[in-house]
Amino acid sequence: MESLEKVCSAVSQCKLCDLHYFRRKSVCGVGNPAARIMIIGEAPGTKEDEVGKPFVGRSGQLINRVMNEFGMSRDEVYITNSVRCKPKAGTSPKTREIKTCSPYLKAEIGLLKPQLIIPMGNTAIRSLGLIMDRKLGKISGISGKFFLIGNYLISPQFHPAAILRNPKKLEYFRINLGRAFEMARHLTADLSQEFLKANRIEIL
Ligand code: SF4
Repeated sequence: MESLEKVCSAVSQCKLCDLHYFRRKSVCGVGNPAARIMIIGEAPGTKEDEVGKPFVGRSGQLINRVMNEFGMSRDEVYITNSVRCKPKAGTSPKTREIKTCSPYLKAEIGLLKPQLIIPMGNTAIRSLGLIMDRKLGKISGISGKFFLIGNYLISPQFHPAAILRNPKKLEYFRINLGRAFEMARHLTADLSQEFLKANRIEIL
């Protein structure tokens, strides 16, 4: 797939897994095609399924709030999902669905070549791990850390929906996500050893 439009067109017609039976709209990635930051969520929720765009509900509002606080706008990021069709209410995508849908995310990463990738939640981490052929672990053990895989800096974060369910973690989420946004401002094409060391970035 040689353009984001082609990825989106393939997603909108896709029937490769059972989730297409339940969707109203499949959801393509949105945002600046030249963005240096890519945010990856899990799968569309009810609102996203209705309008066909990612992170338009309360989770998206929480991300926007943190972005605004750290002087960033939604125009500076590309936001997408691991899985493009809404799973059944109250369920997370199954491994088979994550795998089947992963070529779309892989294509977006290849086209955008973002410097910073922020996978939010375990589904996004699994999907990214599959694409990059790395074991990243679970979000409870790696949130707030930074990893370098090839030229991609990875900053895993809790999914905002998990934060909304457990507001005690809001401050932790805000600080870690804000730190990732701050770091994005200082990224250069080649990250020096000093930069990697100073920011405790683990090379995978
Ligand atoms: S979830 Fe992904 S693989 Fe499954 S039907 Fe939707 S677009 Fe296709």
